[in-house]
Amino acid sequence: MASDHDGDHEHELEAEYLSPSDATVLEIEDEDGGLRLEVVLPCPTCNEPVRASAPVESVVDADVELPVDDSIYD
Ligand SMILES: [Zn+2]
Repeated sequence: MASDHDGDHEHELEAEYLSPSDATVLEIEDEDGGLRLEVVLPCPTCNEPVRASAPVESVVDADVELPVDDSIYD
């Protein structure tokens, strides 16, 4: 189901067409020596949700208040 586009492209993500508020963090997993984030983003081409995973490469103090409000995206 919803596979009409599977043969057409590989859901390439381009930062130009995505904003942080499009991303939803699905999972935060332990990985060897660190953490990995699993996020869901809309494919810029077909708008289907796609999963992306990213290793956490650094953890430093953030100069923001929690919960984060939309103004940090400006
Ligand atoms: Zn796509």
